[in-house]
Amino acid sequence: MAGKIKNCPMCGKLFADNGTRVCMDCYDKIKAKEAEVVNYVRDNPGSKIPEIVEATGAPEGMIKKMIREGRFEQVGVKMSYPCEKCGAPIITGKICQSCQEEVHKELQKKASAITAAKQAAKQQAQGHGMYSKNKLS
Ligand SMILES: [Zn+2]
Ligand SMILES: [Zn+2]
Repeated sequence: MAGKIKNCPMCGKLFADNGTRVCMDCYDKIKAKEAEVVNYVRDNPGSKIPEIVEATGAPEGMIKKMIREGRFEQVGVKMSYPCEKCGAPIITGKICQSCQEEVHKELQKKASAITAAKQAAKQQAQGHGMYSKNKLS
């Protein structure tokens, strides 16, 4: 069975999505753009993402995705982009390892605060017994 028929997010044309997510025309365009980016990076190793965007017109998200996919390592160039929190060079995700740990700790703190609040509410409800609904408001 052919893929789902939908509008191409890039050009709006109806197409059968076979996993490319864009129509074949745009898919070819993306592939050509990716090749251009790879060529640029190979010829200009050490380029920063804004420079690549400037030189090739490729969107930043596409370049980051290519970094995550290791597309530049294939041509012998190590590429990274800055962590969104602290600016450390990373090659995967949005933030670096240490920021990830920090976020994780924050989440745990929040989670335990929520648990504590829930327990307090429960105790309060139990304390007020069956009249709690009327008395609390
Ligand atoms: Zn299209
Ligand atoms: Zn970081």
